[in-house]
Amino acid sequence: MKFDINEIRGLFPVLHQEVHGKPLIYFDNAATTQKPKAVLDALMNYYEHDNSNIHRGAHALADRATQYYENTREAVREFINAKESAEIIFTKGTTESINLVAQTFGRKFIGQGDEIIISTMEHHSNIVPWQMLCEEKGAILKVIPIHDNGELDYAEFEKLLSQKTKLVSIVHASNALGTINPVKQIIEAAHAVGAKVLLDGAQSSSHLEIDVQALDCDFLALSAHKIYGPTGLGVLYGKRKVLEAMPPFLGGGEMIKEVTFEKTTYNDIPFKFEAGTPNIADVIAFKEALDFIKGLGKPVIKAHEDELLAYSNELLKDVKGFIPVGTAADKVSVLSFNINGMHPFDVGQMLDARGIAVRTGHHCTQPLMKRFGIEGTVRASFSVYNTKSEIEQLAEGVARIAKIKNK
Ligand code: PMP
Repeated sequence: MKFDINEIRGLFPVLHQEVHGKPLIYFDNAATTQKPKAVLDALMNYYEHDNSNIHRGAHALADRATQYYENTREAVREFINAKESAEIIFTKGTTESINLVAQTFGRKFIGQGDEIIISTMEHHSNIVPWQMLCEEKGAILKVIPIHDNGELDYAEFEKLLSQKTKLVSIVHASNALGTINPVKQIIEAAHAVGAKVLLDGAQSSSHLEIDVQALDCDFLALSAHKIYGPTGLGVLYGKRKVLEAMPPFLGGGEMIKEVTFEKTTYNDIPFKFEAGTPNIADVIAFKEALDFIKGLGKPVIKAHEDELLAYSNELLKDVKGFIPVGTAADKVSVLSFNINGMHPFDVGQMLDARGIAVRTGHHCTQPLMKRFGIEGTVRASFSVYNTKSEIEQLAEGVARIAKIKNK
């Protein structure tokens, strides 16, 4: 598919509406992206024609549903270049994927005095599961500091690494700042001390090409809804050897080989980690989102988003009272900022009145906000279907709002 912004916008029905009498400008993409019509059609088509439970059926509908479900698993494998589709586990989202690792890998392999390393810029979903585990096991959570521009303090990370480090769990691209972390380097350094690495790919997966084999990460977590797919669906990638060594997460149907009252044996991966009837419809529809990305190619998507981010910086940098938060050299298309003298929520509401949807607050990164000594930010995050004209309207809106307190 050639990059034609009008054609791309035409694929997303939700964009074509007015909010408060103004054309919608959707800049809340880091929270969730909009869905192309093909995803919506696939959902409807599944319920209209194929609805059936998967894997155990002896009839045509069950066969079809199973095949489509497994086709998506293969598409995800290709999307992140995993070695085999058995390494792809469907979950509810990034949050559940990380909790799954904490509750299985963590509970089995992390003990008293062991250390887990995260960073200052983690989303709460990559902090709280580890705190819960540390509390239970007597393990210790270490936090990599960051520089004032929102980049990781890599030298400090190296100092934190030791033989005690059992896991490094780190965000690939920050949702609150946009910072892209040097994950390849982090993974190599962690492996050198024998630690495993989990990448939180919730934000990076929509912007950056991810090759889990080249990166050599042990786990990767992502959410379908942030990459043009349905809500309530995520992925956990894990290396076969690591997944096989882990105990199951939830117990129930699908995840077993044989059950007796005396003893249960567990299914092979990935089914060992997919207890119960999964989110079949959304998994099937997710393939359309992956096909959309594949059709354009991530480098093309990223180039467009980079252009929007650079343009927004150019238009806003001289606005009196505009305070960017997170100015790392290597970023995904997240523009986080404050306006001198104003609460982020008020700025968000004023932008909403102009039809511009942004997110305000701590973005589930309270410790990060504390690091910057702020309560929160206004976050405009750009996607493949946003335009330069929309950026101009954002800049005009921000400039007018800033003027109220910054004459
Ligand atoms: N990590 C990051 C970096 C995120 O941006 C998000 C979503 N805001 C999550 C984790 C959690 O994702 P989900 O809510 O889809 O489980």
